[in-house]
Amino acid sequence: MKLLRNARLYGREGVHDVEIDGARFGRVLPAGQGKGETFLDAADALVSPPFVEPHVHLDTTLTAGEPRWNASGSLWEGIAVWSERKATLTRDDVVSRASEVLRWYAANGVLHVRSHVDVTDPGLVALDAMIEVREQVRDVIDLQLVAFPQEGIVSFENGPELLEEAARRGVDVIGAIPHFEDTREDGVRSLEIAFDVAQRHGLLLDTHCDEIDDEQSRFVEVLATLARRGGLGSRATASHTTAMGSYNGAYSYKLQRVLARSGINLVCNPLANLCLQGRFDDYPKRRGLTQVKEMLGAGVNVAFGHDDVMDPWFPLGTAFPLQVALTGIAAAQLTGAAEIAEAYAMVTERAARVLSLGDRYGIEPGRPASFVVLPASSPFDAVRRQTRPSHVVAHGRLIAETPPAPTRLSWPGRAPEDIDFVRERDRA
Ligand SMILES: [Zn+2]
Repeated sequence: MKLLRNARLYGREGVHDVEIDGARFGRVLPAGQGKGETFLDAADALVSPPFVEPHVHLDTTLTAGEPRWNASGSLWEGIAVWSERKATLTRDDVVSRASEVLRWYAANGVLHVRSHVDVTDPGLVALDAMIEVREQVRDVIDLQLVAFPQEGIVSFENGPELLEEAARRGVDVIGAIPHFEDTREDGVRSLEIAFDVAQRHGLLLDTHCDEIDDEQSRFVEVLATLARRGGLGSRATASHTTAMGSYNGAYSYKLQRVLARSGINLVCNPLANLCLQGRFDDYPKRRGLTQVKEMLGAGVNVAFGHDDVMDPWFPLGTAFPLQVALTGIAAAQLTGAAEIAEAYAMVTERAARVLSLGDRYGIEPGRPASFVVLPASSPFDAVRRQTRPSHVVAHGRLIAETPPAPTRLSWPGRAPEDIDFVRERDRA
């Protein structure tokens, strides 16, 4: 039995020792009471379950500028640019780009990732490559793959057959993109098809839903109702839902009830959608994000995702969830102390609920010994100072270390000192 010592555990008061029994957690004890060899001394730092990425596109990652940049910055031009790049995809190309970004995720303490994979490709090249990657990274990162029909199900040639084939080849989640289908009715039909495939194969459901600044795009109510009537509940997720940023008050109120009753999850992707949405607006320009604060208030589970890391839809990013959380806080006006703590949950435990991780996640006896050590006093502090994990542990194995890197400042009238942006009165 080894020991993680002096950990300020996420969600618990005080400082604890945690037993690590091979790849699993043992007991959680008050600090100083654990017996055994020291695995790691957290020195009162925050110890949290790993970060969870609920929404990224690893097949498109690291392709920004190929074959050209998305000049308008709109979602639609992004899809057109990607369609050109997709024609040149090979297995090696997908495997090397996806693996590189997964190494970034692991270094940042993200050990559960849900990646959408475009299956509107008759060869399903990216899907086969990503299934290989899922296997390669299994000991470190738990990777869920979504069959994502980027160019539609009903409106794309053989769309339903490609979705079915993706399910047969072994995805974890079925997707859809109803707002991209040619008509509203096609959009509804596409959700019914996706729901049917997910049910027959026993898979989760996560659709790109209402990612458009059109207040008449209302597919999320259809998805929620399918999920409720079919008993899918929290196994279903609506990603993006940016049209919600344009819904009127009366409809929003009705929708809160429909979503809360259904139990489905929402994923907001602030980095990408702040950039993609509002492109057809004059001033005032809409934010184009889902109703984060209101839906949390209504009891709906909402998580934050990165969506794109250097691709035609968002050219920046380092796969670091606290950057996403900080952006989400500013964009969704989550500035109360409790709301900032909630934003941290949106890249950890709330995102874990999106992935239906259940007892595969969390610092509890018998669960996988996977965690991050953050040199911070609280989730609030970690978000504010954008703290990178000093240690990342996956299944009882230390996989990443980031030494502290304070800035040495020489200031008139003071001895040279290290600046780490902790407020002096908080340090005592
Ligand atoms: Zn997406």
